[in-house]
Amino acid sequence: MFYFGARRGNTMAIDALVEGRCTGCGICFSACPQDVFRLDPKTGKAVITYPADCVACWSCEMFCPVHCIKVSEPRPRKLPAPY
Ligand code: SF4
Ligand code: SF4
Repeated sequence: MFYFGARRGNTMAIDALVEGRCTGCGICFSACPQDVFRLDPKTGKAVITYPADCVACWSCEMFCPVHCIKVSEPRPRKLPAPY
């Protein structure tokens, strides 16, 4: 299963997650500062749950070990301030 934000006609930065390649490692879930992902308890794979909260920091795309996440510009929201 694919998630394509752009094809859904929205402007969200997180553009695709190829579920077939996801190993369920949870790295994207841990790395995302905006809490965009959940791990589906049935499939054990990552799910983009809150795409509108993505700030295009590219952490998920950079750290996914199997490269199944694609984040695009433009950044729709400002990056959060550091804690
Ligand atoms: S680009 Fe950043 S904010 Fe957006 S989903 Fe990935 S880790 Fe979260
Ligand atoms: S980092 Fe990649 S492989 Fe790991 S759970 Fe997220 S999408 Fe799946």
